[in-house]
Amino acid sequence: MLIDAGELEDQAVLTAPVVIVGAGPAGIVLALELDQAGIEVLLIESGSLRFSEALQELGDTRPTTPERHPPMSECTRRQVGGASVIWGGRCLPYDPVDFDQRDYMPHSTWPVAYESLVPYFPRVGEYLSCGGPIYDLHQIPGIAQTSIVPGLPDGDILTSTLERWSLPTNFGREYLKALRKSTRIRLVHGLSCTEIESTDTGDRVKSIHGRTLAGHDVHLRGERYVITGGGLNSTRLLLSSDRRHEGGIGNHSGLLGRFYTGHLGGRIARVHFSTPPRDTVYSFDRDQDRVYLRRRLSFSREFLHREQLPNIVSWLVNSRISDPSHGNGIMSFAYLSLSSRLGKHLAPEAIRRAAIKGSQPGATRAHIGNMVRDWWKTLKFIPTFGYKRYIARRKVPGFHLPSRSNIYDLYYWGEQMPNPDSRVSLLDERDDVGMRRLAIDVQYQAGDFEGIVRAHRFWDEYLQRHDCGRLEYFSDDPEADVRSQPGDGFHQIGTTRMAERAEDGVVDPNCRVHGFEDLYVMSSSVFVTAGQANSMVMILSFALRLAEQLKQDR
Ligand SMILES: Cc1cc2nc3c(=O)[nH]c(=O)nc-3n(C[C@H](O)[C@H](O)[C@H](O)COP(=O)(O)OP(=O)(O)OC[C@H]3O[C@@H](n4cnc5c(N)ncnc54)[C@H](O)[C@@H]3O)c2cc1C
Repeated sequence: MLIDAGELEDQAVLTAPVVIVGAGPAGIVLALELDQAGIEVLLIESGSLRFSEALQELGDTRPTTPERHPPMSECTRRQVGGASVIWGGRCLPYDPVDFDQRDYMPHSTWPVAYESLVPYFPRVGEYLSCGGPIYDLHQIPGIAQTSIVPGLPDGDILTSTLERWSLPTNFGREYLKALRKSTRIRLVHGLSCTEIESTDTGDRVKSIHGRTLAGHDVHLRGERYVITGGGLNSTRLLLSSDRRHEGGIGNHSGLLGRFYTGHLGGRIARVHFSTPPRDTVYSFDRDQDRVYLRRRLSFSREFLHREQLPNIVSWLVNSRISDPSHGNGIMSFAYLSLSSRLGKHLAPEAIRRAAIKGSQPGATRAHIGNMVRDWWKTLKFIPTFGYKRYIARRKVPGFHLPSRSNIYDLYYWGEQMPNPDSRVSLLDERDDVGMRRLAIDVQYQAGDFEGIVRAHRFWDEYLQRHDCGRLEYFSDDPEADVRSQPGDGFHQIGTTRMAERAEDGVVDPNCRVHGFEDLYVMSSSVFVTAGQANSMVMILSFALRLAEQLKQDR
């Protein structure tokens, strides 16, 4: 059942056994799972069914380090469905190495075993429509060449590990019917939770306060409360609940809001393959269910331990579409479309901005020249790609063009190591429902940058050792290039980190806030490390695990 909070009376009290704050993928999956077990749920969403600028603005933050963090309007979505309304759809779980004891990486100990999450991967794949949990090319039928180029074996470096791609599933659209039809789920939209009020004993929740944009207050009561507001907004709600708890609920260790991490992504080198150009697998594969797959260069678990390296991968991309010297009409067409006024309708802003990065003034003429010279290929490309990208239910994640010279840029993606000095905190400035805004201070460590450069050196040596090619750096100072590439902001890890002992974190291994009997946080903020994987698969795996616990509790 859907309820527009605007229709609720001021000071209304709503109750249900389980109150869930945030109807993004985590909140929706949790609600649907509890519904199936016959448990009534209040699912509270700040956003509406459609996008609203005024509601989105509630989540705006003030980054102390803006060059390292995109605006929140690009990193979150205040709408039923959360960030899945604008996400990319890239799906893969963390690697076992991410949960290993890595003494060379301080603060990286997870209090749960990787194996305890693996049983949830198949069901996560169903929710995401990204196919079965197979992330190794050797296990995909019908794939003849299990490396990126022939003659490159799996060893210290692997080219057979995969990413899978979702539709990409917009949870607000895909599961709306089920939410609407359910008699046990009440989805209240347009209600922003502003504070968690604890009992006098400070170990239970008395109620959660919600407020509409019109200023109506609503009180939410239950037996169990789960905060699924996304990494940063879940943390913000805990920080804002500081009436009885200094520094906010969950700040018993002083770590609430600390360890804010994500990923480092960018390009510092191109790869020259010496193998036959037609044998390079530069683009997506598809499995028997037509799910898109992407190959990468990754490292074996043993190698990462031996070399004390953070978890880092890379994949092949074309050179920047913004630079017309590529001479390609299709790439120029893509650049001109994305950088035009139409561009914001063609891709989520974060993805659009990343795609057109590096644009040079006055390059338009050269781009048009490329299109004129390549007019036939460009004309053929538009309807085919347009259909696959914008009309087909399963959308192609992007486009890649073969390089006749067998040269591709390498896009790296690696983990930012846990860092207590990288943090978010509350400002005095308040939003329109009276909540204090977040300040974001992203801090890197030298090892984050060095790790990326070392990873490239290892890839280069491996390619050369197997006579498959070599890397060419864009500049003489690749580390400076890594430092200049912007940070993440989309995966929002660490600020309510999980730990066995209360003094080491915010939530316990079951995602329950240490010291509370009935309060849980379920978002990427509970993750201890960032790994090389994007967060969605692990968030939903933890959400399914929590759903199971809540069912057992009852
Ligand atoms: C541009 C972009 C691309 C991405 N691409 C990928 C990708 O390719 N692969 C991948 O794995 N991940 C990707 N992500 C990340 C992924 O979308 C998120 O990890 C995922 O959506 C998190 O789900 P969630 O339910 O925890 O939080 P969210 O999706 O953030 O949902 C939280 C919900 O809670 C609501 N909310 C917040 N605060 C309150 C409050 N106080 N009261 C009430 N409601 C509240 C919000 O409005 C929102 O609807 C991407 C993200 C972005 C922004």
